[in-house]
Amino acid sequence: MHYHIILTELCNSQCRYCYGKSMREENDLNKRFKFDFDAPYISSVSVEKVKEFLKRDKEPTLIFYGGEPLLQMRRVKELIDGLKDVPNIQFRMQTNGKLLDKLDIEYLKKIGKILVSIDGKRELTDFNKGEGTYDKVVGNLRLIRKRGYDGEIVARMCISEFPDLNEQVRHLLELIDEGLFSSIHWQLDLGFYSCDYDFERVKEFIEDYNVSLKKLFEWWIGELYLGRVWKLYPFIGMVEHLFSGREAKLMCGAGHSNWTITTDGNLVACPIMGCMPDFYCGNLDSSPSELREIAPVSKCASCKYLSDCGGRCLYVNSVELWPPEGMDLICSTAKFYIDLVKSRMGEIRLLIESGAIGEKDFEYEKYFGPEIVP
Ligand code: SF4
Repeated sequence: MHYHIILTELCNSQCRYCYGKSMREENDLNKRFKFDFDAPYISSVSVEKVKEFLKRDKEPTLIFYGGEPLLQMRRVKELIDGLKDVPNIQFRMQTNGKLLDKLDIEYLKKIGKILVSIDGKRELTDFNKGEGTYDKVVGNLRLIRKRGYDGEIVARMCISEFPDLNEQVRHLLELIDEGLFSSIHWQLDLGFYSCDYDFERVKEFIEDYNVSLKKLFEWWIGELYLGRVWKLYPFIGMVEHLFSGREAKLMCGAGHSNWTITTDGNLVACPIMGCMPDFYCGNLDSSPSELREIAPVSKCASCKYLSDCGGRCLYVNSVELWPPEGMDLICSTAKFYIDLVKSRMGEIRLLIESGAIGEKDFEYEKYFGPEIVP
């Protein structure tokens, strides 16, 4: 199983779509859900306790998460050292990348995959995340590659306000060519806050995003004909899923294959639901096999896309900060994306049969961060 561990709720960035919106946010969530605001900002769980818990899992993967996890660099090192005897332990991390140059390379090398936030070109990344962010992050990636880090680095994009996905991803592909990133995933900033809802604006954004998504997908399919399978998680993840014939569960793994260790040692379904006891599934004294499983929200049960969508984002669908017509808009883009990938599956199968690409090219580690359905 995969487990995020929240090392701190604090962050050294003030991104427009996170800090910027939470500063403006006023909603009725406190009336509808319980919140545990007494949980500490910094993880208070002991390495020993985490170790005992993970030893009960045959193949545990621990994902350092925040806030910004590298603000707790000493804890990262303590956990890597203290958990080294846990059988089959793997480490992952989700970071804004600004402090990657400060972590000793010997520790960094123990973290097999890292998701690094970047939104595309310098101009957009700096607009969203602050002046100088792009150069700092890309500079740090050059540095850690030079120091010998050869694990997977996922470019973790947030698509917010600007729907030009194709243009931004195509830029990041140049950084894959340079050997900095290995893969790309993007998530849509839709439905996380009530303060940013405006039906006409969201509708226009989704229409433009869908056009850009289609453009990118068509380019990606063209590359398959040349024998190149670019690791864009929303595409390889959905293709792999459609090949498998499985009924999708929440594709990020939340509450069935991925849980989050909160700062006070509870196990919650999703890393952004850290202080929401309604979604707690156990704690560090639980056995991993006994953790409560969380199903998609009830509206998904009657949706004919559920077996491929899996229920998209558990948080967004549970808190419903947008009115029903806004929530429908969000689902409309998930449906558009699923139909788009499905429409080319016949060709992809033929390409595999011809030997141009292999089915194995679409295999990937599930649940370490990319949610697949954007
Ligand atoms: S498209 Fe919407 S309603 Fe349908 S399964 Fe996905 S999240 Fe649920």
